[in-house]
Amino acid sequence: MDARVLTAAASHVGRIRMSNQDSGYAGTHLFMVADGMGGHAGGDVASSLATQAITAVADERFESVDVAQSTLVEAVKHSAGELSDAVRSHPDLQGMGTTVSAMIRHDDKVVIAHIGDSRIYLYRGTKLEQITTDHTFVQKLVETGRITPEEAAVHPRRNVLMRVLGDFDTDPEVDTFVLETEPGDRWLLCSDGLCGYVPEDVIAQTLKDTPDAAKASERLVEAALDRGAPDNVTVVVAGVNETNVSAAAKPILVGAAAQPLIFDAVTKRMPKITGLFGTHPTITQEETFETPDFLETIISEDKARAAKRRVRWGTYFAIALTAISGFAVWGYFWTQSQFYVGTDGNSVVIFRGVAGEIGGLNLNSVEKDTDIPLEGLPQYLLHSIENTIPVDSYNAALEVVSRIRNVSSTQ
Ligand code: CA
Repeated sequence: MDARVLTAAASHVGRIRMSNQDSGYAGTHLFMVADGMGGHAGGDVASSLATQAITAVADERFESVDVAQSTLVEAVKHSAGELSDAVRSHPDLQGMGTTVSAMIRHDDKVVIAHIGDSRIYLYRGTKLEQITTDHTFVQKLVETGRITPEEAAVHPRRNVLMRVLGDFDTDPEVDTFVLETEPGDRWLLCSDGLCGYVPEDVIAQTLKDTPDAAKASERLVEAALDRGAPDNVTVVVAGVNETNVSAAAKPILVGAAAQPLIFDAVTKRMPKITGLFGTHPTITQEETFETPDFLETIISEDKARAAKRRVRWGTYFAIALTAISGFAVWGYFWTQSQFYVGTDGNSVVIFRGVAGEIGGLNLNSVEKDTDIPLEGLPQYLLHSIENTIPVDSYNAALEVVSRIRNVSSTQ
């Protein structure tokens, strides 16, 4: 029996977000991550509910790979129903959703079920291979050769999801497949807080240097923190030896699912800071009209599919379309009800409006010039501020500024 820890999970709120909306699970047969997102709240509820629903039925030794696969896929779909039920009794949670990337090991096979942009990787030998496909807008652009994977990694729309487990869709389309596994393999499940910020060669090197799964999980989370960790970070590592994939004494639950679920607290929370690296649209001139034709094409393609499957994609396409053709859709008056945090070149400034201009018309004005100098701020934060940080309200802008001030004062 291998004395190393083969299986571990770790989760961290990150350096910017106020709550951890990720959940992670490393059990005996089942491993999963879920990255929640909310309307104005509820991402942690979504990932937590999905994790609880799936782990309750799928962490078992099934009689065959086929049964394991059908049970896992049904569990993932069923958990969408749990989200709908929760929204029925707590309407404030409407619009919440979560990614799910889950895996059951059955002898020399693994069964995978996946929806969203969390990822499953296989590390075999010294090679790291991404096993799942992101259900994102930029992935569609990559698949049709419009941008390269390298461009996708830094694309301003990389967080726009095309598929997710949500309260609005009780029959979600879940990717599923079965793969071989062999002793020595290490499976890595992670939220985009890891793979969106830590390069794959660094992930591979960390796994290579760190045979112990618990230490590897910690080091991967640290790698994200070293890069500013603007998002929640969740990592599950599952190593395979001849006897049993799991050397953990009991199942490990991390992130939102490890906390008690308190619905009532949801509505009283601080306004969520969206947009820092989330799906809230940042409109700048060069990205405004970049790919509308293609978007229209995939909208019509997917509309046809949606009609067939009764799936409500409309919301997501509307978000993507609105983000991309922003000015045309929302118009100037909308822009003037928006706020963002940016810079005048010297200090941190709260602006009213949106970054950029159109046809010579400036779409923003200084609402408040803070006295926080750019000088001395860490690189990741500088980068965020220069790219502008959109927020939901002026109060949310003040909240962001106070967080920047805290970082500034510790430098
Ligand atoms: Ca995330």
